[in-house]
Amino acid sequence: MVFLNLCDIGEIRALLSLGQNFLRDPRIPQAIAENAGIDEQTGVLEVGPGIGALTQQLCRRARRVAAVELDRRLPPVLAETLAEFNNLTVTEGDILKIDIPALCRQELGPEPWVACANLPYYITTPALSALIESRCFGSVTVMVQKEVAQRICAGAGTAEYGAFSVYCQYHGAPRIVLSVPAGCFVPAPKVDSAVVRLDLYPPGQNPLGPVDEALFFRVVKAAFGQRRKMLSNCLRQGFPQLEKEQILDCLAAADLPEKVRGERLDLAQFARLTAEVGKRI
Ligand code: SAM
Repeated sequence: MVFLNLCDIGEIRALLSLGQNFLRDPRIPQAIAENAGIDEQTGVLEVGPGIGALTQQLCRRARRVAAVELDRRLPPVLAETLAEFNNLTVTEGDILKIDIPALCRQELGPEPWVACANLPYYITTPALSALIESRCFGSVTVMVQKEVAQRICAGAGTAEYGAFSVYCQYHGAPRIVLSVPAGCFVPAPKVDSAVVRLDLYPPGQNPLGPVDEALFFRVVKAAFGQRRKMLSNCLRQGFPQLEKEQILDCLAAADLPEKVRGERLDLAQFARLTAEVGKRI
C-alpha cells in the first residue's frame, strides 16, 4: 500500500487537478486538531475532508471520525490516503442538506461529539450555522477567512461587530486559536485564514439566562439593519407595530441611552432590550 504525505508539495500538485486549495504546511492540520478539544473518547464530525490532511490528524486523536464530503471525486482518494485508519467513515453529501444529528448518531456512536473543519469559504456562514443549530456538539473548531474569524469574535462597538458576531456569541464562547497565512496553502488563496474555536453552551446554560430566542434575533436583525441609524429608528423599522414613545420606553427600561446605535450593545444589553420589546408587542 502507498502512503501519501498529504502536505508534500509534489503529491499535492498531483492531486491539484481536483481544483482546490490544499494545506502545504503539516503543522497547520496538526495545530487545528490539537486545538479542537479531542481525546480518545471523542467523536468528530469533519466537513469537507478534501484529500485528508486534517482528517488524518483527527483520526489519530479521536475515537471516531465521520467526514462529509460534497466532491464525489474525493472519497476514492481518501480511501487510499487514509487507508491506515479504521475509525473513519466518509459520507458523500452536502453538509447544508444532511441530517447532522442522525449522521452523528449513526457514525460516531455515543457522545461527546465535536465538529472540526477547514470550511469551504463560500458556505462559511450557513455551514457554521448548521453545525451550531444541530445542537449536538460541545465545540466547533473551524478554519475560516481571517476577517470572518475576527467578526465571529468581535466585541460590541468595534468595526467587525455585527449580527453574526452576536449569533455566534449567543450560542457559545468563541476565540481565535491560530492564524494561518495564505502561503500555507497551495495554490495560495488571496486571503489569510484563522482558526476559531467556539465552545458551545449546553442547553439551558446560556449565561444570558432565559431569553425569547426568536425575538432576540429579530431585535438583533433590526439593530444591525441600518448601521448608520440610531437604534430607536432601526427598531421602528423592525417593529412597525410599536409607537415611537414605546420604543423610547423600551430603551429607557433597558438602561440604554436614547441615541445609542445598535452596534454598541453587548449581548446582555440585547437580552434586556428583547425583554422590554417583548412586554410591548
Ligand atoms: N480539509 C481539507 C484541508 O484542510 O486541506 C480540504 C478543505 S477545502 C477548504 C473544503 C472542502 O469542503 C473541499 O474538499 C470541498 O469539496 C468540501 N465541500 C465544499 N462544499 C461542501 C459541502 N456543502 N458539504 C461538504 N463538503 C463540502
